[in-house]
Amino acid sequence: MGSTTGFLDVIRIENPFRAEEARLGDFEDLHMPNPPKVRHEQASRCMNCGVPFCQSDFGCPLHNLIPEWNDLLYRGQEQEALRRLLRTAPFPEFTGHVCPALCEKACNLENDATTNKDNELYLIETGFAKGWIQPRIPVARTGKRVAVVGSGPSGLAAADLLNQLGHEVTVIEKADRPGGLLMYGIPNMKLPKGIVERRIRLMEAEGIRFELNTEAKAEELLDYDAVLLCGGARKPRSLNVEHMDAQGVMFAVDFLTAATKAVLKGAASEASAEGKHVIVVGGGDTGNDCVGTALRQGCVSVTQLEMMPAPPVDRTANNPWPEWPRILRTDYGQMEAIYRQGSDPRIYETTVKQILTDETGRINGLETVKLQRTPEGRFEQVPDSEQTLPCELLLIAAGFVGCEEKTLSSFDLKADGRGRLLPEDGSHHLGGKIYSAGDMRNGQSLVVRALADGRAAAKEIDQEINFL
Ligand SMILES: Cc1cc2nc3c(=O)[nH]c(=O)nc-3n(C[C@H](O)[C@H](O)[C@H](O)COP(=O)(O)OP(=O)(O)OC[C@H]3O[C@@H](n4cnc5c(N)ncnc54)[C@H](O)[C@@H]3O)c2cc1C
Repeated sequence: MGSTTGFLDVIRIENPFRAEEARLGDFEDLHMPNPPKVRHEQASRCMNCGVPFCQSDFGCPLHNLIPEWNDLLYRGQEQEALRRLLRTAPFPEFTGHVCPALCEKACNLENDATTNKDNELYLIETGFAKGWIQPRIPVARTGKRVAVVGSGPSGLAAADLLNQLGHEVTVIEKADRPGGLLMYGIPNMKLPKGIVERRIRLMEAEGIRFELNTEAKAEELLDYDAVLLCGGARKPRSLNVEHMDAQGVMFAVDFLTAATKAVLKGAASEASAEGKHVIVVGGGDTGNDCVGTALRQGCVSVTQLEMMPAPPVDRTANNPWPEWPRILRTDYGQMEAIYRQGSDPRIYETTVKQILTDETGRINGLETVKLQRTPEGRFEQVPDSEQTLPCELLLIAAGFVGCEEKTLSSFDLKADGRGRLLPEDGSHHLGGKIYSAGDMRNGQSLVVRALADGRAAAKEIDQEINFL
């Protein structure tokens, strides 16, 4: 530990957001980087704790060696710090942009935590800029072949490790570009797509094959030594109301996919919010991404409905440190809505009662109703609390209920009651040559958990096929 008083001498400084006015005018990165000097100073705030909760199960799922690379960064040994980071983190440029940084919430400095996320982004971007990141081509090949179905973070992490272990890896992806939700889901301003494409090019140079626009079919994968299913948990939760098929009613990921395709083409989105009153159902992260995207597309207004009550401002007694704090957060999209509209777009304890349509079958309004909890914990509608809101675009961001049926039936598999392909023994092995990882195995989660699970599955497959 270089600086014993760093956390006392230096205040926490995060990478700043670009001003709302500027960032609402484009889909470019939300943040600006800080200069190297600031990052070195920030790294000095890491206390090299006796028990580093940041890398424990409460913190980073990849168990990144955070105190070690923060110390190296503080000392200016950037290349060595990056090497230490890459021992456990396959793609720090993804997590450096989108991770909610469980490690920072578990940091002993709590609200004043070390800026691990910004530090990791600085290290990997410095590595790319200085040419330290070069294709790592395995010196020997095992002759074993593995198919990875799905190119989201879990599939990419598994493909990366399996390739480094010498196996021949083919990634099969039904979309036209690789990346899963990193490409089509998470918006460009949160994760610029050039960053995803840069990594894919590197992986190709390292020997991994990507077959795009290809829906995996079990009978076409019989020749492989192992098949890892990383198809995600992409089946959206619907609403139990009439007119869900009305024009102008969309699931969030479809809307966000169209938005990213438009950004990549430099064209207007086929499902643009421009000139519309937009209502987003779901107060979570996906809903927030819809809010930010709708504002950039030029919506007239955006409102976010959430059936749960607003979370507390501070931790409650049953949610102590180092657990993830279940508190009220105002994310970038909500901040932008407050800036543009003058008030928080979120309305709590409210749901959709009726979708209103015009004579052509297009949505033109929404009837909402307030909800309250019964003593048994069920939700019930509050009598006479209905309200009608103008709405020409309704985005459903109410969560996900598991993996898609098409992949299940193609591989003759059955998901559990929560829509997951989670083997009962806790492994990744579904039987025969078939394995699962990421959201498909665990349910919709986080990029960093998908990366960790992809790597765990790769290790399991490696152990198995080396004995074939
Ligand atoms: C809008 C949104 C925003 C999010 N923001 C964040 C965030 O900021 N931070 C964070 O940590 N997490 C975020 N998440 C969650 C995170 O993106 C997921 O947990 C993560 O991407 C899961 O990775 P995965 O590899 O398991 O699956 P996915 O990323 O879903 O990838 C699955 C891939 O499999 C492909 N596929 C499926 N079936 C087949 C088939 N039969 N044949 C071929 N290909 C197939 C799909 O096309 C897809 O490309 C967000 C999620 C959403 C929906």
